[in-house]
Amino acid sequence: MRILLVEDEEKVSRFIVRGLEAERFAVDAVADGTTGLDFASAYDYDLIILDILLPGITGTEVLRGLRRVNANVPVLMLTARDALADKVENFEAGADDYLTKPFAFAELLVRVKALLRRGAVNRANVLRVADLELDRLSQTVKRSGQKIELTSKEYALLEYLMANAGRVLSRTMIVEHVWDQSFDGATNIVDVYVRHLRNKVDETHEKKLIRTVRGVGYAVSVEAEGV
Ligand code: CA
Repeated sequence: MRILLVEDEEKVSRFIVRGLEAERFAVDAVADGTTGLDFASAYDYDLIILDILLPGITGTEVLRGLRRVNANVPVLMLTARDALADKVENFEAGADDYLTKPFAFAELLVRVKALLRRGAVNRANVLRVADLELDRLSQTVKRSGQKIELTSKEYALLEYLMANAGRVLSRTMIVEHVWDQSFDGATNIVDVYVRHLRNKVDETHEKKLIRTVRGVGYAVSVEAEGV
């Protein structure tokens, strides 16, 4: 796992790098926003740790610039300030988590691991697979330009499948993401909803996009290979 750290305070930077390297992460550390943005654009990181108060361009500006070129990499923001307005601004700019200085390394590590487990999130406003299009802002779904009416659960299921297009998702993963933690019904609820979705999304089209992977789960993909 490769991590980029953008932090101008040398002491804090060394403390984080040492800790993460001891946990066997590969860490690139840079000390200003412009270099941070260059590195983040040039290399494929699994996670970026970004200080907000930096010389030159601020962490928030780095984050905005980064989200234009890489919408998906998880970003953990660091700051000495604990103002709610900053948090809101940074979450809106695409931060995934937030840590206020000073912090214990164990606290940072917990958050880093949680973000890495969750992985990259597809944040695009419009998800497309072949001629199927899902618009997250208007919450509308179209196939070949024709609007498809979905219930809110059908929509949530399709969004999860399309955000992970090409990946096979198990019934358990689907239940955990689409239904809430308190849902303790059988995972065959997923089969029922997939059937509803197929009727609406694939039924009248020659090219089927919702695939069943026997013994594993479901995927949305253009080609059957690899899924
Ligand atoms: Ca700083």
